[in-house]
This record gives sequence, structure tokens and C-alpha cells, in this order.
Amino acid sequence: MGALALLAFATACGDNGGGGGAAPAATTAAATPRPTGAAPTSASAPPSAGAPAGADAAAWAKWNLTPLAPAPAPPADKPIKLERTGPVPVFSDVKTSDKVVFITIDDGAEKDPKFVEMLTDLKVPISMFLTKDIVKNDYGYFKPLQALGNHIQNHTVDHPVMSKLSADKQKAEICDDQAALTQQYGTAPLLFRPPFGDGANTPMLNTSVQQCGPRAIVLWRESMQIHDMQYQAADKKLKPGDIVLAHFRGPKELKGATMTQMFGDLLARIQEQGFSVARLEDYIQAPAS
Ligand SMILES: [Zn+2]
Repeated sequence: MGALALLAFATACGDNGGGGGAAPAATTAAATPRPTGAAPTSASAPPSAGAPAGADAAAWAKWNLTPLAPAPAPPADKPIKLERTGPVPVFSDVKTSDKVVFITIDDGAEKDPKFVEMLTDLKVPISMFLTKDIVKNDYGYFKPLQALGNHIQNHTVDHPVMSKLSADKQKAEICDDQAALTQQYGTAPLLFRPPFGDGANTPMLNTSVQQCGPRAIVLWRESMQIHDMQYQAADKKLKPGDIVLAHFRGPKELKGATMTQMFGDLLARIQEQGFSVARLEDYIQAPAS
């Protein structure tokens, strides 16, 4: 099972929860909060910017990739509407007829500068589910990715199997990651993903999430491995609105492949099925504030 492979990886990468962990990189002011739902400012073109222009085509060629079809404009009426209070929804895809999928990248272990360069070139939207103990040695790495318009979301403090924890410990895992990410990145995560997807549908975890701030639990339909995706659907095909799981991983975890090779292969798998990549948060309405 994928969960087992993931567990093995997490054990390998999340082993510095105790003493001796590197001090957090010096960080100055947190990133400027961006009101949820507001259009990104000049730093990033909206995903509806149209077909890749000449410069963009060159950017894709630089990474040996065929450009993805441009994503349609985000829907004005969001398919997922979050409430301010009460139980949080759990979802692994988004209802839409748009031929789009959403890329989520988890944990934060590999911090490859080339990946920042790649996303700066390609402007493919991602959502990052970050684990405090895995990113705290370099919170700054994720800031240029955030500055491209990508959101930072909650993925616990040290990547435990949530269903094995008491309610209090679950709450600490989620609330402490929420606090650290809010402080570092200037905006509170709206979404939560439990490690391995474990416990997502239990009332206890739902309550713990409610107590910490995120307003939805996000799972996935496909998970990117090294060169190919693992599909939950028997026909092994992407469907409109699917959420794809990937990880910040490097050569150690990818049998020698780099983060940018893995991500390039992911984009190729999406491109060859005729899909484009949209921003997950553009399909979600945050609770009215
Ligand atoms: Zn994870």
C-alpha cells in the first residue's frame, strides 16, 4: 500500500523531533498576508492568463516540458464553500467540469532551490501542506513559493498517525503547526491534511481540526511516486477536479531522481491526459470573515 511506503518515508525524514534539531533559520517579518480569495497581485499572473506566450513557451522548453493547457478562469461560484463553525468537510476531489487537477505537495523535507526556479518559470499552482518539524530548519525556503501565490496549509507538527493519539495530542499536533505556520507565513492555514490520510473521517479528528482553525480536511485521488502516479480509480485516469498528492522529496527518496525531475514527470503525466493545473484554493470559498 502507498500508505506503508509513505510511512517508511516519514519515519526516515521526520526523525529529528527531539534534541539536536537545527535552529529555525533566521526569519524577519512574516510574509504579507493576502486576503483569501483576493487576486494575487503583480507577482503572479492569474491562472486564466491564457495560452503560454512566447516567453512562457521558452520557460517550458527550458525544463524539457510541453506546456500545459492554460487553466480556465477560477469559478465565481466556488464548488466548495466552507463554514466558519461546525464540522469540517472531508474531500479528495472538487466537483467541477473544468478539465483541471490540483497539485498538493506535502511535508517539506527536500528544499531544492532548483524547484523554486522551476515554479518561478512555469507558474504552475501548488498547495503546500507543511509539517513543522520537517520545515523548521528552513522556513524561508517556502517563502518564494508562497510569493508566487501558492498557499501554505497544515500537516501537523511531526507527522504522526493521528488515530493513535488522544484528543489532546491531536489538538497539539494541529494547533501547534497552525501557530507556527501562521507566524512564519503571515496567514492562517485554511486546510488540514492528516499524515497518511489517517483518521480523516473520525469524529475525534474532525473535532480536533475544528479547535485549531483549519476549516476542511483534504485528501487526494492520485499520488505521485517517482515517474508515475498511483491512481485510486481502477481506470488509472485523471478526472476533472482530482487532487493529486506529491511530496517535497529528493534523490534519497526518489531513487536518484531530483525534485524537479519528479515534478516534471508529474506535469507530463497531467499534460498527456489533456488536463491543466488549477489552484485548489481558487475553487474553495473561505468562511466569510
Ligand atoms: Zn505527509
